[in-house]
Amino acid sequence: MNVWSKKMPDVIVVGAGFAGTVVARELAEAGKHVLVVEKRNHIAGNMYDTVNEDGILIHQYGPHIFHTNNEEVAQYLDKFGKWKPYQHRVKGMIKGTEVPIPFNFYSMENLFSAQQCKILQTYLQQYFGNKHRVSILELMNCEEKVVKTLGHYIYANVFDGYTTKQWGVSNVKNIDHSVLERVPVVLGYDNRYFNDRIQQMPVDGYTALFENMLNHENIECLLRTDMDSIIKFEYDGTILLQGEVFHGIFVYTGMPDKLLQNCYGALPYRSLDLQFETIEKDSFQSVAVMNYPTSEVFTRITEFKKLTGQQKTGVTTILREYPEAFEDKPGQEAYYPIENEENHALYEKYETTLTSCWSNLYLCGRLAEYKYYNMDAVVERALALSKEILEKEVK
Ligand code: FAD
Ligand code: UDP
Repeated sequence: MNVWSKKMPDVIVVGAGFAGTVVARELAEAGKHVLVVEKRNHIAGNMYDTVNEDGILIHQYGPHIFHTNNEEVAQYLDKFGKWKPYQHRVKGMIKGTEVPIPFNFYSMENLFSAQQCKILQTYLQQYFGNKHRVSILELMNCEEKVVKTLGHYIYANVFDGYTTKQWGVSNVKNIDHSVLERVPVVLGYDNRYFNDRIQQMPVDGYTALFENMLNHENIECLLRTDMDSIIKFEYDGTILLQGEVFHGIFVYTGMPDKLLQNCYGALPYRSLDLQFETIEKDSFQSVAVMNYPTSEVFTRITEFKKLTGQQKTGVTTILREYPEAFEDKPGQEAYYPIENEENHALYEKYETTLTSCWSNLYLCGRLAEYKYYNMDAVVERALALSKEILEKEVK
């Protein structure tokens, strides 16, 4: 890793996260010579995991759990490493009580009397029948008064404070509904955070998986290199690599506004101040992730040993996530696109200009496409893009 022969590549990929790495691997397999340019000092993008000085395997950019219903994506990733089943369980600290999240019938029993639960469950069943998962908005907008009141109660205790902290908004109207719909209300006794058919963690960690993906004779990977230091975009439609015209395929997985010096204004993102702490204890909390919807400045605490299954006594490392506006300060990362109509319109301006000016440029990934992609969706998109690029070449 981190060598470049200085040979002109067929393909340049900016970013060694899932988007860039999958495209690099697919095009390399098709015989293309690929140069991956990554500004960080490591591969794996936000999936990067590493053992800290206390011997605990941590996820440097926040907790990452692989879950999908896309068997093709899971099978693709099986080629690069072993996976172990993992069911993610989250609790929320609500009024001093640990309550399972997504809110479900167990959560209800933690907060209401047995009689109240019986009444609520009867109403829910009458209204929603056999539906197992509903969105908080469906509950809040329900015509049935008891269900609506329950919806408002859950919103106030699970969603309101967390969403305000995470997105810096004071009103649910300012946030795209798809964000809230990521975490449903479960009408039953299912405590799992996700209900996808495949839920797993890489046995040797994500970074090892990425090493295997990038380990190909046709891939060269340049770390600690911001693309700006070796690549220039000219407004006549050419791309220069170290001063020489690059005629190949250019796949970009970073922030699109940066490529055009924020000419239409900066695309808004949310960032996180990630605070790690190692504690001299076997265990810190009852689950891998504890959410704090109604108290604290941070949104959640992750305890890594419970996420990765690492067995180590005497110490445990936790992570508190403090959401903040992305201001492009040194060391700050753009983690979340803020999806709403206004920001989508701004994104489209960048996308249109970029793809019409530079015909060999492709945008892929959470930042580059301004989409709140999960890992599986990014892999799916990167596989589809690779196919599209190769098919275009044949024509
Ligand atoms: P990234 O992983 O961000 O990769 C982009 C890469 O491009 C980075 O390495 C960056 O350094 C590099 N880059 C950018 N600009 C330049 C430049 N100018 N020059 C060189 N390099 C550049 N998804 C799940 O499925 N499950 C989860 O549990 C989950 N948890 C998450 C938790 C958090 C806190 C966050 C923020 C996201 C989570 N995700 C999760 C989403 C997941 O992280 C994304 O789907 C994934 O990171 C997208 O991959 P990517 O390649 O698009 O982006
Ligand atoms: N959310 C919430 N309370 C919770 C968990 C999630 O309000 O206890 C909302 C919040 O708006 C959050 C969104 O649901 O941003 C999506 O949550 P998810 O866990 O998918 O976020 P991620 O893991 O992507 O940070």
